[in-house]
Amino acid sequence: MRAWPPIDVPRVPGTPPPLRLHDTASGDVRPVTPGSTAKMYVCGITPYDATHLGHAATYLAFDLIHRLWLDAGLGVHYVQNVTDIDDPLLERADRDSVDWVVLGMRETALFREDMQSLRILPPHDYIGAVEAVDEISELVGKLLASGAAYRADDDRYPDVYHDHTATRDFGYVSRYSEAEMLRVFPERGGDPDRPGKRHPLDALLWRTAREGEPAWSSDLGDGRPGWHVECAAIALNRLGDQYDVQGGGSDLAFPHHEFGSAHAEALTGAHPLARHYCHAGMIGLDGAKMSKSKGNLVFVSRLRGDRVDPMAVRLALLSGHWRADRSWTAELLTGGQARLHRWREAAGAPSGPDPEDTIARVRAHLADDLDTAGALAAIDAWADEVLVRRDGQGWAADGPSRIADAADALLGVTLR
Ligand code: ZN
Repeated sequence: MRAWPPIDVPRVPGTPPPLRLHDTASGDVRPVTPGSTAKMYVCGITPYDATHLGHAATYLAFDLIHRLWLDAGLGVHYVQNVTDIDDPLLERADRDSVDWVVLGMRETALFREDMQSLRILPPHDYIGAVEAVDEISELVGKLLASGAAYRADDDRYPDVYHDHTATRDFGYVSRYSEAEMLRVFPERGGDPDRPGKRHPLDALLWRTAREGEPAWSSDLGDGRPGWHVECAAIALNRLGDQYDVQGGGSDLAFPHHEFGSAHAEALTGAHPLARHYCHAGMIGLDGAKMSKSKGNLVFVSRLRGDRVDPMAVRLALLSGHWRADRSWTAELLTGGQARLHRWREAAGAPSGPDPEDTIARVRAHLADDLDTAGALAAIDAWADEVLVRRDGQGWAADGPSRIADAADALLGVTLR
């Protein structure tokens, strides 16, 4: 499907330091080591509800990685999916008496608008599960043929499951113990108690058709794909057997990324699927976890409707560390708005201090596992000097525009 429109990124003179990122699988902050084209897969939304600030913070973190690779002169191949067929979408459609296709298209359209307003660079491949059913069923067929998958012992619904022991390194992504996996699995869409499975931790690959549910015909029989194998197939077919960054929110480390990599590696034998597994923190509201059940979601579209500048939202989210669970508060947004105002005022000044050192500091902080707070502080200091001293001696007429370009290219914040 179509992603949102491309966004111009100014070229900033100079060379950034090498990017280092935290990798969940090793538990360390390590250098990323892409070739001439950096490859990234970030899990997309299940479009049954609007984009909330937790989503925005996640896609924002990976947008920074995308921007830093461009700044380093690399090509980037960025793939994102849309889980436009899955149980949560069908359940919401049923609850609201709306066609699941219409609901999915409506929320995906809203997501695109939200991403565009936040100046998040679009993926190069934006792929819906529905349009990938053939390639997913083909992957499941290969896993069955190789013995890495099996049919559930169920005459009526012989669903296909992955034998998790068919992957040598199962558990390496999340590093959860089996007890933790068993505890978390049912909370995150898993079905450990489903009769007919060989092991509670085997994950669904292909759900055979049920009465009243959408289904697609394939060599596996009529049915629909599981969630984890959806991402495995879409990633393998576009990025190859191994890529640089697998991204998503921290709640995806297990089961989603654990199983996605297990499915892919059972097929290809290439380990690890991703050289970095990067997981963004969760956003709460005023100290409580943001969740559908609590009804305390803050939607990006709601803020846009209230005429909040999306760049202030971006700055508010960037003021915290991408991996930290943190809270959205009125003060956080006010802080983002005040910072945006000061930066815009300084960027509009007739001259400013030579920004070379400031830009080097911004790059150094971002290269250090996306230390956005440090990067913002560097530009704050530059803006403070402009606004306090006004027209200092020896200042450059292009100082403000060079800072504006750097804020745009590296942080995605436009000051114009
Ligand atoms: Zn995924």
